[in-house]
Amino acid sequence: MEEKVIVTVATYTNLFEAELAKSLLEDSGFHPNLLNERMMGMYASIAGDMYKIELQVPESEEQEAKELITGLEDSDYVTRILQSEGALLDGHFQLTSGKHSNQYIEKIRILQNPEAAHNLCKRLAEHLVEYEFDAVVGPAYGGIALAFEVALIMKKNFLFTQRKDGEMTLRSGFDLSKLKKVAIVEDILTTGGSIQEVISCLENRGLEVVAVGVLVDRSGGKVQFPVPLESLFCIDIPAFNPDNCDACKQGLPLVKPGSSDKVSF
Ligand SMILES: [Zn+2]
Repeated sequence: MEEKVIVTVATYTNLFEAELAKSLLEDSGFHPNLLNERMMGMYASIAGDMYKIELQVPESEEQEAKELITGLEDSDYVTRILQSEGALLDGHFQLTSGKHSNQYIEKIRILQNPEAAHNLCKRLAEHLVEYEFDAVVGPAYGGIALAFEVALIMKKNFLFTQRKDGEMTLRSGFDLSKLKKVAIVEDILTTGGSIQEVISCLENRGLEVVAVGVLVDRSGGKVQFPVPLESLFCIDIPAFNPDNCDACKQGLPLVKPGSSDKVSF
């Protein structure tokens, strides 16, 4: 009987990342398997110190599988997470600008699964490590949970801004006396307008903004700030005027995402 040799190509302490890597290998025609997956699922908090999840493949796939796993970029992970959470939608959408697009990022789905959000924040935190700052600021409301999570991971303070009578303001009550430098964390960068308002608002309060971190740069890299921008995933989603939209010509139903619960913060 021929014995099939199985080898470990990567180890993980995080089930989510292990499963992402496994599905990437599967999609590329490999035959991966996770060891200790159930153990971690049941006893994640205690098992993490004792067991690592091992990503294994048949020996014949070892070299190529390793190359694929080590060559993984942030954007691969972010695309994966957006897809697995159903946040990257294809269809016919009307944007707030009035233009139409064939793709839409339903960002609220990122927050719906806190573990997915946590994994994205961890990656963003790795980008922000090179900057020196005391607090992470999130613009309401999408940025609040993410900025809080990044602040928790990086052991920084957390602040948030909100729109009050149309003007971007720092939520009252925070103690700024020990804070000098801050980083801004937001979910999706589109035109950059509101992030620029957050920068000005913080500067007016005597805080120095050292970096902006976003999960997704939807401007395709076009938007620039007076401070460095860190993004996990850069995507240029084309938008069309309604009179020049193929989906309109094909008569596809138009979806206005999020239009039913527009609230102003
Ligand atoms: Zn259209």
